[in-house]
Amino acid sequence: MTFPTATISVTALQYNFKRVKQTASNSKVMSVIKADAYGHGMATVAEALKHSDAFAVARLSEAVSLRQHGVTHPIVILEGINSADDFQLAAELRLSPVIHLSSQVDLLSSITLDQSLSFNWIMVDSGMHRLGIRPDDVETAISRLKASGNMLDEFGLMSHFANSDLVGDSRNQHQLEHMLNLKHKTGLPVCLSNSAAVLAYPESHLDWVRPGLMLYGISPFGGKAGTDHDLQPAMQLTTQLISTYDLNIGEQVGYGGDWTATQQSRIGVASIGYGDGYSRHLSNCSEVVIQGQRCPVIGRISMDTICINLTDCSQAMVGDEVLLWGRSELMVEEVAEYASTIPYELVTVLSKRVNRDVI
Ligand code: PLP
Repeated sequence: MTFPTATISVTALQYNFKRVKQTASNSKVMSVIKADAYGHGMATVAEALKHSDAFAVARLSEAVSLRQHGVTHPIVILEGINSADDFQLAAELRLSPVIHLSSQVDLLSSITLDQSLSFNWIMVDSGMHRLGIRPDDVETAISRLKASGNMLDEFGLMSHFANSDLVGDSRNQHQLEHMLNLKHKTGLPVCLSNSAAVLAYPESHLDWVRPGLMLYGISPFGGKAGTDHDLQPAMQLTTQLISTYDLNIGEQVGYGGDWTATQQSRIGVASIGYGDGYSRHLSNCSEVVIQGQRCPVIGRISMDTICINLTDCSQAMVGDEVLLWGRSELMVEEVAEYASTIPYELVTVLSKRVNRDVI
């Protein structure tokens, strides 16, 4: 058997998609599957979520790869199409690059594409100040894009919340108001809500929602797990125990000897490390589950291995499964807190060396 393994559940992905549809029942769904579908496998997730109205990715290369996998849905490229060649390729493949910068409008006004770009999303900077055209400049940008002759007359307005995980934060209301004003002025469809907004701000659902994290069964809110929102974790990360040994009082474990036995101890070594994307920030502070029991991760995370204190898990033996995250015994949200990061990062950075099993 190959390990470590990220086991991806199609049933969980489809269950979570259904939860999006139930929660935002009047909106179309643009499923966010960038960064290899948050580490879950872009082609697998696209197939599992084929009832999505569109998919969103971050880069042209991701969109091309989806077309190569036979995905025929509308595909929205969220950022960074800045050259005539890239627009040309996007048009040929019927991709929808998001327009988020006036220089993209300038470029499209100065070239003639062989084919028109189909559905065109304008990213509005409603307050995040990352990517987007200022609300006051949106109507001019659309007129110039229409005049360029490179686009079919199908436009939508998109924006992104900066603080949707902070429920009740007034900045969310300000962003929503900008988008409602623009919707009123232009009559165009609006796509605003990420997972946190799908779950917490029904008034922001509007024409389209654009969730990522909740599709994977993960909560966008600190201190919560996906199961608190009736979501199912789509990824279980497991590996195998490859060694066990006894340690005397005063002996140390791993690089730097960062953990010292204060009693006669039993130690296990599991086959996963930062070379697999298991964060080094989990050194000396995470937990794993073996035979249904929580065991502390001790010492520094190495490239290929982690050490585990098995002193209170005396039945554990070489060959046992080690759960890193993804079942109710240990959710990825909790592990992210141990690493002082967000669950997005833990699932996204898993390396190619981690075997992917789809069930
Ligand atoms: N839209 C944009 C522009 C994003 O950058 C992201 C995620 O990073 C999403 C939507 C999906 O957000 P979430 O995964 O929080 O649902």
